[in-house]
Amino acid sequence: MIKINEHFNKLQASYLFSNIAARIAEFQEQNPQTDIIKLGIGDATRGLPHACVAAMHAAVDEMGEDATFRGYGPEQGYAFLREKIAENDYAARGADIAADEIFISDGAKCDTGNFQEILAADIRVAVPDPVYPVYVDTNVMAGRTGPFHNGRFENIVYMPSTQENNYVPEPPDTDVDLIYLCFPNNPTGATVSRADLKQWVDFARDNRALILYDAAYESFIRDDAIPRSIYEVEGAREVAVEFRSFSKTAGFTGTRCAFTVVPKECRAFDENGDTRYLHPLWNRRHSTKFNGVAYPVQRAAEAVYTPEGQNQVKALIADYMKNADRIRKEMDDLGYSYVGGEHSPYIWIEAQMDSWAFFDMLLNRAGVVCTPGAGFGPCGASCIRLSAFNSYENVDRAMHRIREALQKG
Ligand code: PLP
Repeated sequence: MIKINEHFNKLQASYLFSNIAARIAEFQEQNPQTDIIKLGIGDATRGLPHACVAAMHAAVDEMGEDATFRGYGPEQGYAFLREKIAENDYAARGADIAADEIFISDGAKCDTGNFQEILAADIRVAVPDPVYPVYVDTNVMAGRTGPFHNGRFENIVYMPSTQENNYVPEPPDTDVDLIYLCFPNNPTGATVSRADLKQWVDFARDNRALILYDAAYESFIRDDAIPRSIYEVEGAREVAVEFRSFSKTAGFTGTRCAFTVVPKECRAFDENGDTRYLHPLWNRRHSTKFNGVAYPVQRAAEAVYTPEGQNQVKALIADYMKNADRIRKEMDDLGYSYVGGEHSPYIWIEAQMDSWAFFDMLLNRAGVVCTPGAGFGPCGASCIRLSAFNSYENVDRAMHRIREALQKG
C-alpha cells in the first residue's frame, strides 16, 4: 500500500494570500469603481535592468548556433557567475568566500527550504516570530515538529521579534541546533547590527549549532555599517550558510536565479559527535537533485556586476526605497510606530488592533491592500506589512487615501 508522508497533515493551509484575495474580490464586487492599490505583495514590479536583458538576448543567440550552443551546465553554476559573486559580493566587503563555495540555484525559496534535508531529523529548530513561512513548513514536512497549537508547532523554538528587542531576537536559553535568521527581515524589514550578529555567531560556535542566514534583501541596505553578509562577522565561516537571490536585487522574481554559500569549514556533527563538513554534503544533494540554472539566466545575472548593471540595479533599488521613504513619512505623520523601510522594501507597522481588522479597514475605507501580520506568526497579530514594490505614483496615492481614511477615524 502506498502511503503518504503523514507530516504533511500537520501543515496549516496557507490562508494568508487566499484569504486576502477573497476579501479583495468581495470588496471589488461591491465597489466596482474603486481602483484598489496593492501594497501587500513582495514581488518586484519594475522591468529587468537593461544590462541583464541585453546579456540574456546575446546568450539566447549563442544557444541558437551549434558552435556556441550549451547543453547541461555545471550543476553548481558557471564559473563566470560564481567568480563575479565571490569578487563583488564578498571580497569587496572583506568577506573571504571562494567561487567554489557558491552554489547557483533557481531560488532562495528552494534553497532555504531544501537545506534542512542534509541535516538529521531529530535536531531542534529555532525560527523568528514573525517568520517567512518556508523555514517552518519545510521542517514540518521533514517531521521535525509536533502538531500545531495556538499558532505554533510543537518542538519548534519560536524567537519573538518585537518592539521590545528592536525586532532582533536574542539567542535562546534553550538548546537549539538549527537557527534561521533573515536580515533585512521579511516581514519586519528590521536589520541587524554587526555586534548582534556576532552574538549569534558566538552562540552557534559555543553550542555546536548552525545558522541558516537569509540575506535575500541585502541590496536594500543603505548604511555601510550594517552587515550585508554574515561572513562579515568573524568566525561565521564555520557555523553559517548564507542564501541570496537576484529576485529582489535585480527583479529576477520571474527569471529565477539565486545562490547559496557553504564555506568549506562550515560543519555539523555525525552521531558520534565527529565533525562533518557540509560543503560536500550540499554539493552531493544539489548535483543529485538539481540540473543547473539556464545559461541565458546566468548570463543575465552576471550582467548585474558590470558597471552598467550596477548603476541600473542601484537605480532600481533607489526607486523602491523612494516608495519606502514615502510610506515611512506618512506613518511618522500619522503617529504610527513601525520598523523597516530604511534598509528594506518592507515596513512593519504596529496597528494597535487585530491585523485582519486593520486590513479590512484599509481596504474598505481607503481601497488599499496590506498584508496582515497574523499571517507570519502570533507576534504579528497586531501588525501589518506594507510593501514598497509598486510605482511611486500608486504609493503616493495610497498614502493620501490612508491619511484620509485614518483621519476620519
Ligand atoms: N527569502 C525571503 C526572506 C523572501 O522573502 C523570499 C521571497 O519573497 C525568498 C527568500 C525567495 O526568494 P527567491 O525568489 O529567490 O526564491
